[in-house]
Amino acid sequence: MSNQTHILVTGAGGFIGGHLVAALLRQGHRVRAVDVKPQWQWYQRFSGADNRTLDLQQKENCIQAVNGCDWVYNLAADMGGMGFIENNKALCMLSVLINTHMLMAARECGATRFFFSSSACVYAGYKQKTTDNPGLKEEDAYPADPEDGYGWEKLFSERMCRHFHEDFGLETRVARFHNVYGPHGTFDGGREKAPAAICRKVIQAKLSGTNEIEIWGDGLQTRSFMYIDDCLHGVQAIMQSDIHEPVNLGSAEMVSINQLVDIVEEIAGVHLDRRYNLSAPKGVRGRSSDNTRIRQLLGWEPSIPLRVGMEKTYAWIYDQMISGSSKDSVFNRY
Ligand code: NAD
Repeated sequence: MSNQTHILVTGAGGFIGGHLVAALLRQGHRVRAVDVKPQWQWYQRFSGADNRTLDLQQKENCIQAVNGCDWVYNLAADMGGMGFIENNKALCMLSVLINTHMLMAARECGATRFFFSSSACVYAGYKQKTTDNPGLKEEDAYPADPEDGYGWEKLFSERMCRHFHEDFGLETRVARFHNVYGPHGTFDGGREKAPAAICRKVIQAKLSGTNEIEIWGDGLQTRSFMYIDDCLHGVQAIMQSDIHEPVNLGSAEMVSINQLVDIVEEIAGVHLDRRYNLSAPKGVRGRSSDNTRIRQLLGWEPSIPLRVGMEKTYAWIYDQMISGSSKDSVFNRY
């Protein structure tokens, strides 16, 4: 890949897409950034990119987006944390239009490489019934029993990538992200994920002096969380590799939600009373990433400690809440 590769990032107004555009511009690439949201709502927006607002569920918009680009990072999806995906299964499944039309457009426009952001939600529910999950291996996606809605769509689109490679020769790459967190993402409004939601709740409790936090579920459910810098490194390494099979991109540092709250309380310097909401969406019982395959293939795995990443995330959310600018996008220059 030369430094002047023309790269499309879809979902560029979102959390991971915004960071990826920044990284690619820093590396000297020509970047086209596309999202369905009006640009003032993008989490990050850069004057050095070709920024476009397009609904990529429509095939003609996908053609406009891809035309002239060599590489495609397809991150666009209608998604959110557990609270969103458990209650919006049809919306999640409609992302199949984005992924199908983007693959067709990439093929028709002669793009040479295509990255698809899949998810740990493709993994079979029956493999995630206990909190002591040893880590999900790539083969644990089958026999299929993914998260209803969101997970089925991701699994289907993974297979579309596979067949576009086998039948049409399109170079596709698929990473299964496990909970990504960091600054410049959503932390309120219903689409936020656990790390950002817990930061927000702890900050609210601290600022208001209520001294109490609501936790979804019994707090014993386990997860692993990957800091955005590890995600960006992995996404680009996978794209540049010749890995054709889906590969885990996640941290193997598994914690319970209670342990995640402990970390945030420690960063905030507070100790809150915990109220467990057992009827809230809570997802699978235990999930972590087995990184054997990515270590073998890339000689690398995500390694930024949760405590280190959460400090940066907490600091950013705190600043946003203090300044009241949660929805403002930042217009950066590169
Ligand atoms: P995000 O919601 O912040 O970003 C997704 C972006 O896609 C949004 O800005 C949204 O407006 C855009 N989008 C939705 N519909 C669109 C359409 N029709 N046309 C164009 N753009 C559209 O999410 P994120 O956390 O940045 O996730 C990026 C990708 O990674 C998604 O595919 C997601 O499913 C996947 N993923 C993320 C995580 C995570 O923990 N963040 C975990 C697993 C998988």
